[in-house]
Amino acid sequence: MSKRKKVDAQKLAAELAETGRAFQARGWALGTSGNYSAVLREAPMRLLMTSSGVDKAFLGKKHFLQIDDHANILSGDGRPSAESLLHVAVVRSRKAGCVLHTHSVWSTILSDRHAKRKSMAISGYEMLKGFEGVKTHEHQEWIPVFENSQDIPALAKEVEALLKQDPRPHGFLLRSHGLYTWGEDVAQARRHVEIFEFLLEVVGRKELAEHAS
Ligand SMILES: [Zn+2]
Repeated sequence: MSKRKKVDAQKLAAELAETGRAFQARGWALGTSGNYSAVLREAPMRLLMTSSGVDKAFLGKKHFLQIDDHANILSGDGRPSAESLLHVAVVRSRKAGCVLHTHSVWSTILSDRHAKRKSMAISGYEMLKGFEGVKTHEHQEWIPVFENSQDIPALAKEVEALLKQDPRPHGFLLRSHGLYTWGEDVAQARRHVEIFEFLLEVVGRKELAEHAS
């Protein structure tokens, strides 16, 4: 992140819009759900953020806002997502360059199934190597699960505290809600969503099959 090249807001918006179309097509963010952000500047923090209530299949230039680390709008029309502070929390604790949040079927099901234990772990799959820094399928990916809440400032504090204290997670789940993951740039964050969604579907299908037998 610190060595990041000069940031081009239009290019980042185009990358996030393309990501939005791809994720919508995969069913990971339907019906205006999900939100995406990328860092324009680290200090003072400036985030390019999708505005609330927009169908992510049709993101255009006018659907992006620039916000500060209190989710105040600095430029652009529209409302910031209520969840903007969660993006700020991830950027602050992980020095991420991009944060992506989806509402897929499998993240919704599994976050509920594992909520009581407040986390789930995935290991033994080749696709784990898609996470930054992971070199072997024997890696165990530990995924925190937070209770869903409409009190986003409180939730953001909880998320930031955990991510600052534990360097392991590449993402986290909100109960019956969805997935948050990040990367140093849009491409890496997007890869992490694809890896998570693949693994969550594999684990979800396996758990449900075992449950039925
Ligand atoms: Zn959400």
